[in-house]
Amino acid sequence: MSENPTNASLSAWAHSVMPGGVSHELRFRKPHPIYIERALGAEKWDIEGRRYIDFKLGAASQLLGNSHPAVMEAVAQQLTKTPYSGDCHALEITWAEWLQKLFPSADLVRFTGSGTESTMLALRLGRAFSGKDKVLRIDGHFHGWHDMLLKGSKPGANTPPSLGVSAAITDLTVVAPPAIDAIRDYLEQDPQIGTIFVEASGANYGSVPLPDGFLQQIRDLATETGKVLIFDEVITGLRWSPGGRQARDGVTPDLTTLAKVVTGGLPGGAVVGRADIMALLDPGKPIDGLAPPVSHKGTFNAAPMVAAGAIAAMELLSTGEPQRQADAMADRLRNGINEKMGKHGVKGFAYGDSSTCHMFFGGTSIDGMSAAEIRTQPATLVSGLRNGLLERGVDLMSFTSCVTSSAHTPELIDEALEIFDETFADLAHQ
Ligand code: PMP
Repeated sequence: MSENPTNASLSAWAHSVMPGGVSHELRFRKPHPIYIERALGAEKWDIEGRRYIDFKLGAASQLLGNSHPAVMEAVAQQLTKTPYSGDCHALEITWAEWLQKLFPSADLVRFTGSGTESTMLALRLGRAFSGKDKVLRIDGHFHGWHDMLLKGSKPGANTPPSLGVSAAITDLTVVAPPAIDAIRDYLEQDPQIGTIFVEASGANYGSVPLPDGFLQQIRDLATETGKVLIFDEVITGLRWSPGGRQARDGVTPDLTTLAKVVTGGLPGGAVVGRADIMALLDPGKPIDGLAPPVSHKGTFNAAPMVAAGAIAAMELLSTGEPQRQADAMADRLRNGINEKMGKHGVKGFAYGDSSTCHMFFGGTSIDGMSAAEIRTQPATLVSGLRNGLLERGVDLMSFTSCVTSSAHTPELIDEALEIFDETFADLAHQ
């Protein structure tokens, strides 16, 4: 590394060792990404020393803000003992008990290596329990990057947004709109569907909200038809409430997939669920001589350094206070953005549930719109917003969406809103 690296010089170097210079396709940016060196609370600093107000927050994992001292301290303490040895340890039991207490669906818990691994495992459990290979998932909902649930992640397209995904696998994935009558028809037409997957917020952490009452309706339908219902709460888990969207709305799925906030913002994830389904993972209880009935491994599952940080985070997040703070800051952000858009005559609005903020350009309502329509926004406005904000020191999570944390303050939100104001002024002139 050169003595005075810049974002541009690091990007050029990165391209020589990594395809596209990145480790995650959404980190790709032209002319180059920013290279973050340090993140604290609701702020972060790049390699050039430039400061950003952070609304990405570790892809929504840092609900307590970046580098929360209690989480950092717990991890540091654990590092003096062992980061990870590949054995059972006491911390994973304490952590699992937290999830059991917080999530209504959590009779039992199994830790995983990521959100993607959680949805892979939950689906395997759904197939094993139902004895049926097919899964129904909702158009535009995101469940990680593995083969089985990739089709449908790009709204309005009935093919996976990637080469290398075999049709033999995607043929087992049925994509339905978030409309209960249509879903009932799909289930009636295809008896091989055994599992239903739903992103508990609606697509893209709520940029496409679910219709009112949808979660209860799909719960009732799954019960009536004997399907395994899985809520993907990788983002909503602990964020929408300490027990996720299921606790807030009082609708309990059979299985729940978790990651991001559930690990205190450290690498990992979890599947929690009904005792009779989770029992399929018990290697001590072979079924028909198969031990274990559902196989699941993973070198870094519940690594002690992660468990230590996660427990520290659970202690804070179980009170609901950090969520209330983050929600209030998102509310302030959404209201402020709406005011600034109006001031500059930008046609659009901000909206969102819990501690999220989404922006839609081109109308006054998204009611009745499909995921594909909501996601089709004028490309120049979307990139103008993202780039204009980033150049002035505000980082969003993706495209026109972002999240807040309990580390955001009214002063930081107002400072960010001034940057939105300047950016909207630019966009209004385009
Ligand atoms: N499900 C949802 C709802 C997500 O938002 C994500 C990641 N953004 C995932 C699953 C996949 O999680 P991971 O990136 O940890 O694999």
